[in-house]
Amino acid sequence: MMKYRLFFIAAFLFIGTAAKAQKNGKKEIDENKMYIAGSSYEVKTYPQKFKSKKPENIILMIGDGMGVAQVYAGITANKGHLFIENMKYVGFSKTYSASDYITDSAAGGTALATGVKTYNAAVSVDTLKNPIKTVLEYAQEKEMATGLVVTSRINHATPAVFMAHQEDRGAYGEIAAEFVDADVDVFIGGGLKHFTGRTDGRDLLEELKQKGYSVEQSMEDVVKVKSGKLAGLVAPDHLERAGERKDMLPVSVETAIGILSQDRDGFFMMVEGSQIDFGGHSNNTTYMVEEMLDFDKAIGQALDFASKDGKTLVVVTADHETGGFSVTGGDISTGMVTGEFSTGGHTGVMVPVFAYGPGAEEFMGIMENSDVGKQLISFIQKK
Ligand code: MG
Ligand code: ZN
Repeated sequence: MMKYRLFFIAAFLFIGTAAKAQKNGKKEIDENKMYIAGSSYEVKTYPQKFKSKKPENIILMIGDGMGVAQVYAGITANKGHLFIENMKYVGFSKTYSASDYITDSAAGGTALATGVKTYNAAVSVDTLKNPIKTVLEYAQEKEMATGLVVTSRINHATPAVFMAHQEDRGAYGEIAAEFVDADVDVFIGGGLKHFTGRTDGRDLLEELKQKGYSVEQSMEDVVKVKSGKLAGLVAPDHLERAGERKDMLPVSVETAIGILSQDRDGFFMMVEGSQIDFGGHSNNTTYMVEEMLDFDKAIGQALDFASKDGKTLVVVTADHETGGFSVTGGDISTGMVTGEFSTGGHTGVMVPVFAYGPGAEEFMGIMENSDVGKQLISFIQKK
């Protein structure tokens, strides 16, 4: 009797452990090494004829950590095509910073935002720590409307380099506070906790309201704002990953364009696929591919507007590659992709630059990341 009881307990423990191991093992192997496609989305083809020679509006879209392998994993995952393929002018950007062969997002973003290479961790200050005027600030000088849309906290390095000036990207409280005076017309992302419950006692939400902003804390409320100034802080910190936050990024892009395009002086907007980088850092193929597809849907929103408007330049690039990702296998008919990573950090490879619209021809060939920023600023200065 005792023998049987022991046998049953042992068998029960064995089955339980085996089931658990299989569940964990399956999840890890699938997520990190493989992406299995859900439903793919339809990619439209947009006309290549534009109404002006120089852009009236500029939409800069940064896939944080997006190298060529990430783009091709996305193409495979969506069974052969991405919206990005409408962008016929293609080049490469050299991403090294003033201090490091491997850049971080602050120095890489600063080069794109100001046309100046600086040291890693710098938020639009030069190597002597002097503030550098950003493309967004040049746009404001021309009375253009401005916007920032991201899936990270809004005071994270990539959005910060367009509106803040700090010696160190880690100054999150200070960067959040800079939003009160930065006068960015529309900003949507996470990071609510950096605006409220602060150690300095300031209530930045109240200060933004006094500056005339609609301050919204959910996407449901963000999409209801049709004009004026909008601060959408829709998560306490970074947004959830793509599967969980649904279509927050493409919907935010559509909402922001709807508001910004009402300005007769034109607009400048930066959109970031922030978490392609997060998927790369965690060496998680599924996370990275899902973020790539979400970013491409946001690109589709931008191209949809630009193709109808005819005076809007859309530039898609990255600040650096993350993960040393390589596509080791795939199937375009099913959308399955397998991948491997060579690092948990960033790499030094060139990243792609894609352009669509008036002025797109300026983004061909191999360029410095800072050339992208210089060119965007030059378009705005000539307006
Ligand atoms: Mg970023
Ligand atoms: Zn990173």
